Amino acid sequence: MEKNTVEKSGRKAIFLDRDGVLTREKSYVATRGQMEIFPYAKACIDKIKEKGYLAIVVTNQSGVARGIIAEEELVRMNRLLIERTGVDAVYYCPHYEKGIIAKYAKPCNCRKPQTGMIDAAVQKYGIDLTKSYMVGDRAADILMGQNAGVSTVLLESGYGTARLEEQVTPDYIMRDLRDLTRMLSECR
Ligand SMILES: [Zn+2]
Repeated sequence: MEKNTVEKSGRKAIFLDRDGVLTREKSYVATRGQMEIFPYAKACIDKIKEKGYLAIVVTNQSGVARGIIAEEELVRMNRLLIERTGVDAVYYCPHYEKGIIAKYAKPCNCRKPQTGMIDAAVQKYGIDLTKSYMVGDRAADILMGQNAGVSTVLLESGYGTARLEEQVTPDYIMRDLRDLTRMLSECR
């Protein structure tokens, strides 16, 4: 009994941005055919889970509000991503204040760097944020992680550090997801 409680309140997680982390960064990926999953993604997620972390994708998909991506197709892309990489869940923010689809063209609390998606995952999985990480390729990913109180990892496999929208100070800067799993392997 006691052990269960401890596990439930203390699950650790690695939050992952999608584009530039698990898939190749392209400005808007609108269909499953355009979503190019990195060949090493599955092995990295296996390692993350083997180390006892939940692997949870948190992705801004303002293309939905902008009328570029159909939400039904995004849901299918999410299912495919889960199937192909083994991530535990995909949270997405379809909103954008200046979008053209009325339903999504509004302020929200889930668009990164806000923490709505992490908050929702914490509610569902009982995650201990002090043992968790946020991994992404953009300033908003790092700021979101800092806002939520997790360790932050900036990867150069997406837009790259040279193209950051604003100055951020991540805890780690790495080339790609494989470097993170190598670091996890070295930890007990
Ligand atoms: Zn949102």
